[in-house]
Amino acid sequence: MKKLFLPMAKNVLLLAFFIIATAQAEDIDLQKLVNDVHQQFAEHKEGKNPDYIPALAAVNPDLFAVSIVTADGKVYSSGDSQHLFSIQSISKAFNLAALMQQQGDEAVIKNIGVNATGLPFSSVMAIELNEERSVNPLVNAGAMATVSLIKAKNSKQKWQLIASNLEAFAGRDLSVINGIYASETATNVKNQAIARLLHNYGRFYDDIDESVDLYTRMCSVGINTQDLAVMGATYANGGVNPVSGKKVVDKKYVPKILAVMTTAGLYDDSGLWLYKVGLPAKSGVGGGIVAVVPGKYGIAAFSPPVDAAGNSVRAQLAIAAIAEKLNVNIFK
Ligand code: GLN
Repeated sequence: MKKLFLPMAKNVLLLAFFIIATAQAEDIDLQKLVNDVHQQFAEHKEGKNPDYIPALAAVNPDLFAVSIVTADGKVYSSGDSQHLFSIQSISKAFNLAALMQQQGDEAVIKNIGVNATGLPFSSVMAIELNEERSVNPLVNAGAMATVSLIKAKNSKQKWQLIASNLEAFAGRDLSVINGIYASETATNVKNQAIARLLHNYGRFYDDIDESVDLYTRMCSVGINTQDLAVMGATYANGGVNPVSGKKVVDKKYVPKILAVMTTAGLYDDSGLWLYKVGLPAKSGVGGGIVAVVPGKYGIAAFSPPVDAAGNSVRAQLAIAAIAEKLNVNIFK
């Protein structure tokens, strides 16, 4: 009797603990959480605006915003959450969905690659060292190759496809920030070189100048943290935008995209990020970062100063603090 009772008591205890833990996560006031985290890092000054795109150096470094959108479409924001900043590399994690919708997930393995480089996002060495050349869709080489691989009748139609895909993720119309687009167009010589190098290796799939231009335009699209959290929540919700209710990408592709975000979303610091936070995420040199908690949340933060890897310092701190509080490390 005693022997039977003990394991049973243990199970009851475990169940009670589980119920309390779940209830706690659900009881957290998300509006208070974004306010608290915003306040916690409001005075944090580390990092520096990127200056290799001159217009980014001119953005106010004090801007700071945090947003959470739940997988059922509830929105919570704090700080400068209506401020539009350039999406930059974050676009890569969503444009990948457009490619998959059009050509399936095998096309990504075959034509681009999915392995992490462990090197900076604009590394030429990564192209030389890896036989896949373009390496993965979240570094500049792979992202430009992705743009080149997407099929459309002409450049105008391709832009429409790329832009409307981002808009479907955000659930609203978006526009290019012209000052950023002009500045990046005037200075993107390295990206032009990368595209030519890929072409040399037979890993570029459309007109070089046209594709680099479309990629540059895509990176210059303006979003705010609320848009970004909705975009993340669309992945958290299996490819259906929880605010608009519209399907953006097939559910079967979402784990593949999140896998690449997990290994390569924060470039050469992806391992460090994963070790500390344990969430798929994507950053951009515009200062934005979005993290996805499958089935639960899109978490976004924005602050222009970035670290050596090109990831916003405050956005990383804010998302890490939120993830910790919500207890959402995917490895737990
Ligand atoms: N448009 C930027 C570039 O091509 C994107 C880089 C980034 O956000 N890390 O360099």
